[in-house]
Amino acid sequence: MARRNPHRPFHPDPAQMALAPEVSGNAINGLGEVTQRRPRMVYWAPDPDSIPHGQMQRWFYSVNPDHPALVAARADRQKVLDAPLPDLAGPPVQHAPDDWTAALDAFVDDGTCEMTGVAEMRDDWVFEGHQIAQSRVIVLGVQHDYDAITQAPDPTAGGEVVRQYGRAAGAAKAVAGWLRQQGWEAEPVTGPMTGALALIPPALACGFGELGKHGSIINPELGASFRLSAVLTDAPFAPTPPRDFGIDAFCAACRICEDACPPMAIGPDKQTVRGVEKWYVDFDRCLPFFNQTHGCAICIAVCPWSRPGVGLNLAAKLARRAARD
Ligand code: SF4
Ligand code: SF4
Repeated sequence: MARRNPHRPFHPDPAQMALAPEVSGNAINGLGEVTQRRPRMVYWAPDPDSIPHGQMQRWFYSVNPDHPALVAARADRQKVLDAPLPDLAGPPVQHAPDDWTAALDAFVDDGTCEMTGVAEMRDDWVFEGHQIAQSRVIVLGVQHDYDAITQAPDPTAGGEVVRQYGRAAGAAKAVAGWLRQQGWEAEPVTGPMTGALALIPPALACGFGELGKHGSIINPELGASFRLSAVLTDAPFAPTPPRDFGIDAFCAACRICEDACPPMAIGPDKQTVRGVEKWYVDFDRCLPFFNQTHGCAICIAVCPWSRPGVGLNLAAKLARRAARD
């Protein structure tokens, strides 16, 4: 039975909806398409005028612009983004691929970020109309503060999201700088405007976890409550493998995020998106509430995997059950 939702019914702000384009975001995302293709940029475009939902993307920043949590987090993130990268040293330092990947973990171990992974670059992770030349994508994850994110949809949670985007950007720039000081070109990719790269697919490929019903990645250590950044490079890192914790099947039997989502953007079943059957959040339903609440985040806050100390126990329980079956 559905739980009572304090945010329903949701009435979108008419001023925002007046900016909605004719085309559906779900159509841009390829909902219902049975043929595989590269993704199209639907939101968080570096140039909002380049996408149909660009006016809605601009409107996002008009909501509560003076809230102290948002102002402080945005100012801190901008400082990180403005900081220059070190000059490229040369010639490139040589290590075996496994040693590069181990050195990356050692480099971030001071708390630069909470999780790393490496994937060999694939064209189908690159938005249509863009190209990425580098052979490797290093993915970095930073965890939200749980108490702050559970304030969602209060701006306190939005501020925490921006704060972690800033940390993720700092991690990407630190890793890129570390590589440049060893003679390797390295390009940081920071969110939410990630440019050419869709970040979730490489994160899944390099072991960050599984896609949850709420459209975010879940893993036992960080739950669903984290942000990503990346570094593009040709330094020959060994890829890290994908990881399966049984979360996909867990989601099939859970409906916490479905019940909690105010505009009912999360459905009970997987859908076909660009030729792949997967969990999918209805973009057109989500976006108005997301925009109106500085990034919402309710679905990642209520996900049981996000609660500190819960994810590892859940994963161990699922592993024991899988071993028995
Ligand atoms: S709340 Fe439940 S269904 Fe939703 S993503 Fe988390 S585990 Fe999956
Ligand atoms: S972020 Fe979107 S999908 Fe998640 S709860 Fe909010 S409105 Fe629903």
